[in-house]
Amino acid sequence: MDRQPVHIFPAPTNGPAAKILVSGCLNGPPIRYNQTNVAVESPVWDRWAAEGRLVPFCAELAAGMLIPRRPAEILGGDGTNVRSGTGTVVEDTGADITDQFVEGAQLAVAEAVRRGCVAAVLTDGSPSCGSTYIYDGSFSCATKAGTGVVAQMLIDNGIRVFSETELDVADEFIQHLES
Ligand code: SF4
Repeated sequence: MDRQPVHIFPAPTNGPAAKILVSGCLNGPPIRYNQTNVAVESPVWDRWAAEGRLVPFCAELAAGMLIPRRPAEILGGDGTNVRSGTGTVVEDTGADITDQFVEGAQLAVAEAVRRGCVAAVLTDGSPSCGSTYIYDGSFSCATKAGTGVVAQMLIDNGIRVFSETELDVADEFIQHLES
């Protein structure tokens, strides 16, 4: 099914500042699986917002998932394995929802490319947006190092990915690109 990207906020006006794809739940509406968002309190974020850099996007909503929704974790590795077909994304019910996660990731990459994003700042821990860690597939709150499907697909398409705890590093990266 051909789905269009979901825009959670009005798109900022185009300007010279490099765009950054950001998880829609970061300082956004309560769109996570458990109907919450993730607060980010940072002068870097505030400056990016004022500069019109932020491109909020939620891959799971774009793929048609609902709010709230069942928790999901990756089995058999991380986003790399999902991309290669050796890993799956499952709900806590055991239902395989890999195809929806891959579709959402493809839409995220398409949006990043369409908007000219040079980097992404994504919510860590998510089976979609995690970039330094994800949950280990046991639904026991245990984590492991690894990427979610969106983060890995962005990386594989040449877009630098940072977590919401790496804003200073991301800002240095952006400033270096623009210097
Ligand atoms: S898919 Fe990403 S943007 Fe959407 S709710 Fe999950 S962490 Fe947030």
